[in-house]
Amino acid sequence: MHDPLPGTVDGTVRQSAPLRIGVLALQGAFAAHVDTLTRLGATASEVRTPPDLSGLDGLVMPGGESTTMSKLLSSSGLFDDLKGMISDGFPVFGTCAGMILLATEVLDGRPDQRSFGAIDITVRRNGYGRQVDSFESDLDVIGLDSPFHAVFIRAPLVTACCDRVQVLATYDDHVVVARQGNIIVAAFHPELTDDGRLHAQFLQAVAVGSQ
Ligand code: GLN
Repeated sequence: MHDPLPGTVDGTVRQSAPLRIGVLALQGAFAAHVDTLTRLGATASEVRTPPDLSGLDGLVMPGGESTTMSKLLSSSGLFDDLKGMISDGFPVFGTCAGMILLATEVLDGRPDQRSFGAIDITVRRNGYGRQVDSFESDLDVIGLDSPFHAVFIRAPLVTACCDRVQVLATYDDHVVVARQGNIIVAAFHPELTDDGRLHAQFLQAVAVGSQ
């Protein structure tokens, strides 16, 4: 079942102090995440170096190019710091390439591509095939009372999902939103629409964990 919802009716989270959420800003679609999180009342900041992680309550890993992000995570020193934080329960919301970075197993990645192994799923990069590089769909998501309009762009396909993973939405029988502990992933780009409800769900998870 879901965490109790501490948020207000408009989906924002009521906290005594705003949650501090980093957005990994090495590459990709980070700016729209910052906007959405700010609109929901969080203090959002861009993360490029290890000191940027200090004081954060949670992190968003955006869409983009997971192979490039993997390289930059290593060269910046962020990978090892984040790996430790995630194993200590640090909440992360990974979207599209961010989902790939959090997965246990990545198929069709580059040989040197690294992932955090934070959620027990196997993903195939660009697994929906070139002819449907991009598509949109209205998804039923557990915890949301009406469909979420999802924009998929060269999305990863979840090919295996362990029982420990809570499936929050599927498309065409494949998992597209999932949660394991403090890790939430979406195969699409929730920051590309005005609908902040998935970000709000993440903020709620962070808020509950930090109480
Ligand atoms: N296909 C990209 C990758 O492998 C992900 C695409 C996206 O984030 N929109 O990283």
